[in-house]
Amino acid sequence: MLGTDSEDVGGATYARAMPRRTPPPASAPAAAHSAARPDVEVRRSARRRRTVSAFREGGRTIVVVPAGMTREEEARWVDRMLERMAAKTARRASDGELDTRARDLSARYLGGRAVPTSVRWVTNQNTRWGSCTVLDGTIRLSHRLQTMPGWVVDYVLLHELVHLLHAGHGPAFWAELTTYPHTERARGFLDGVAFARSAMPAEECAEEAGEVEG
Ligand SMILES: [Zn+2]
Repeated sequence: MLGTDSEDVGGATYARAMPRRTPPPASAPAAAHSAARPDVEVRRSARRRRTVSAFREGGRTIVVVPAGMTREEEARWVDRMLERMAAKTARRASDGELDTRARDLSARYLGGRAVPTSVRWVTNQNTRWGSCTVLDGTIRLSHRLQTMPGWVVDYVLLHELVHLLHAGHGPAFWAELTTYPHTERARGFLDGVAFARSAMPAEECAEEAGEVEG
């Protein structure tokens, strides 16, 4: 679902947020425009029971909520979804900064030899810190790195940049990373984070050499 403008808060969250005793409104219209926000349209879906989603359509934000949701809950979820969409927009803007950072790192430590076509944050990458697709030169970093020190993010970014030059993790690969002064420290940092969250595998990243992702 990455790349769409839809956000899904998930069923469990809403199930907890909505008390079962709440009766559905007697006369809920199928769609309603918020008086306070003419650029927001709320659509009630009888098929929805536990999820709320939002997307952009014709310059407006459409928020789809379960038909049984009360007006109070609806208002709360609209606020929440608008915040999420705004955060997503901010994240997209920061992809531009990531791209600049990648070019700086390449120039500084790799003589500018690694030239990525795009570098972006992704939220669907929970088992890898970074990944790259050699064929099209794209690099993706897990959003989980965003709260980590800059020298750790730089290491992961540099690691993926080196993959644009060398496949695998052989001696030639690691030789490229010796000029970055925080390589060993950053690897230790990430190992520690992975150990603390046992959900993280020991593998630092995965390469996709063959196929361009759809
Ligand atoms: Zn790697």
